[in-house]
Amino acid sequence: QAKKAGRNSFRFFDPDMQAAVEARAEIERGLAQALALRQFQVYLQPQVDSSGMVVGAEALVRWRHPARGLVPPNEFIPLAEESGQVVAIGAWVLETACACLKRWESDLRKCHLDLAVNVSARQFRHPGFVQQVIATVTASGIDPGRLKLELTETLLHDDIDETAQRMHALRALGVHFSMDDFGTGYSSLSNLKKLPLDQLKVDKSFVADIAADPDDLVLVQTIIAMAYNLGMQVIAEGVETEEQRELLLRRGCSHFQGYLFGKPMPIEEFEDLPELRPLAPLMLDSADEQAA
Ligand code: C2E
Ligand code: MG
Ligand code: MG
Ligand code: MG
Repeated sequence: QAKKAGRNSFRFFDPDMQAAVEARAEIERGLAQALALRQFQVYLQPQVDSSGMVVGAEALVRWRHPARGLVPPNEFIPLAEESGQVVAIGAWVLETACACLKRWESDLRKCHLDLAVNVSARQFRHPGFVQQVIATVTASGIDPGRLKLELTETLLHDDIDETAQRMHALRALGVHFSMDDFGTGYSSLSNLKKLPLDQLKVDKSFVADIAADPDDLVLVQTIIAMAYNLGMQVIAEGVETEEQRELLLRRGCSHFQGYLFGKPMPIEEFEDLPELRPLAPLMLDSADEQAA
């Protein structure tokens, strides 16, 4: 016990902690140039409907750090939020996503796919955000209805009228909205209905235990019912097992995302997925017949 306390009092010199502090400093320094050095990469994770068909993907950013390898977003997005760099990173991710959607437009196997892009609270609240999204979407020439912006629950807390106003401005363009990680923050339910949301995304922490924990299953069931009553679609994230998929499906969940259907992968890999198929494969068969 004494030894433990003694150790704690010397925590400042803990080599592990020292390493963590240095790693953070290195990430902060590197972040400032990462965009210019083209070190970010967008990964795509499939989203499927109740029949298992891929209906779209979520764009998830990664950082190819020259020394640290592939850095996951949880290790740099929070820092980029603090520094404000998330505004520029987010703008780049959006541009990349719009370029994908544009490319897919003329591809029979992909023209029906939607793309979801994460928007951090700081990015959303940035004064130029609405104009930036409008400019990017317009310049890319995509159908704005294919784009979904994933917002975080922190936007439900304060300045709900400003949040609603911004969302309506983008809604007018045709862009859709999803509430990410639903149920993990302090959601104000009365504020939830003030926003033009199209989708609720059930957080993976609820999905993880639904097969083992009846309470989590009740929570998820309640979230699904509430979403439908508010006119929103539901997608469950973090679906890893067939059992989880079935439990969710039986409770009315219509869309799914998780390792069961595919991990986040480089854009080219996603575009080559054999699961991507035309909406009406039977029509292709008859076209083949005609050609024969
Ligand atoms: P998120 O938006 O909730 O994204 C879902 C996260 O769950 C992703 O982690 C994804 O890889 C992971 N995931 C997907 N399926 C499963 C599964 O079956 N099991 C488990 N255990 N995990 C699964 P990732 O890619 O590390 O991203 C973490 C978070 O970083 C994201 O959470 C999002 O909040 C943030 N993020 C990622 N890309 C961006 C971005 O471009 N902009 C902003 N602002 N934030 C981003
Ligand atoms: Mg997300
Ligand atoms: Mg999420
Ligand atoms: Mg989550």
